[in-house]
Formats: sequence, structure tokens, C-alpha cells
Amino acid sequence: MPDSPLRIGGFVPFTAIDYPDKLAAVIFCQGCPWRCSYCHNPHLLPANGDDLLDWQNILRELEKRKGFLDAVVFSGGEPTAQRALSKAMQEVSDLGFSIGLHTAGCYPERLEDLLPLLDWVGLDIKDLPQNYPALTGAKKSGQQAWKSLELLLSTDIPLQIRTTVHSGMTQYHAEALCKELSLLQVKSHVLQPCREATGNQALL
Ligand code: SF4
Repeated sequence: MPDSPLRIGGFVPFTAIDYPDKLAAVIFCQGCPWRCSYCHNPHLLPANGDDLLDWQNILRELEKRKGFLDAVVFSGGEPTAQRALSKAMQEVSDLGFSIGLHTAGCYPERLEDLLPLLDWVGLDIKDLPQNYPALTGAKKSGQQAWKSLELLLSTDIPLQIRTTVHSGMTQYHAEALCKELSLLQVKSHVLQPCREATGNQALL
């Protein structure tokens, strides 16, 4: 049986802000196992969407942008939720693009398998581990995300940690999180405000 292609819910063909110092395209992968109350991409949460984009069309669009774009970022949803991610990243890498990943670290074991393909990672660390279930609705989400953090910190892959400041996060709370990350020698940590839900440009 042929492998299922990557399920894609959105595509942004050009961005200067989603991969540090590189011009990039962003592929929004469909599906996420968590249900954060402040999620700004709720249409990407179900494993299947009504308007999925065709993977081969995305590859053709990227081929046309060779020499103009530097990188492709796999975002979501949660990209690592899909088994097809590794093959898709390899195909994009074969076109000559650097590979970026935006992840919440839901699947540390799958993330480990992807490490050889990654040039840059933006990892959401939402809170201290014990506070995750109330945010994500998933019992072991805190352990999974922090295990992914430790894994990435053990590599040389450039890493940015992002934390969304949600309504339940007090200053005390945010400071405790920042302190913990600094103890782990995290070099790049960005606190970002909650955003309204958006659609992702789907041009194909
Ligand atoms: S992990 Fe990210 S994509 Fe998934 S529900 Fe939370 S904010 Fe949304």
C-alpha cells in the first residue's frame, strides 16, 4: 500500500518572519492531538480537513521558488502528529531548502527520528510541566513537551523556545518558567501574546 501523503491545511508561499534570518515558505500540517484553549489555528486541529492541499502541488510550487526562498517551515497543527512528515521533509530538503519545524513537542520519540533533517526548530514551551494538562487537555503533555526540550537542547540544532502568555499565566508563573528555562541554559526564549484565531493562506 502506498504511503499516505502529508495532510496539509494551509500554505504561505513567502514569509520573512517564520525562520530566523531566512526567507521561507510555511506548510501548515493538519491535525493536533492537543486542545489548547488559546489555539489560534483551530481549523487545523482535526486530523482531516475539508480543504486539504495536494502535496505534489506544494512541491511544484516550492520547485518554482528555488533560488528565491531559503527555507521551508513545517508548522501546524502539530507536524509531528503525521508519520508522513519525515518523507516530506526529505523531499523538501532534496530541493535544496533548509528545513524548519514549529512544534509543541507532543511526540519526543518521533522528534528524535527527525533530528538529522532539521536545520532550525521553534519549540512551544507552554508552561511548567505540571500546568500543561489544564491548558492542553492532555494528561502527559507536560512531560512530553519538556522531554522534547531536553532532547533538542542535547543537539546543536538552532532552537527558539516560544511561550504564549495566556490569561491564566500570572507574572509569578511566567517568572518561574523563565527561571527554569534559564537553568536549562536555554539561549533564545520569546514570550508572545495570545493571538486571535486566523486562517492560513491556502494558495493552491
Ligand atoms: S499544541 Fe498548538 S496547534 Fe495544538 S492545540 Fe495547542 S496551540 Fe493549537
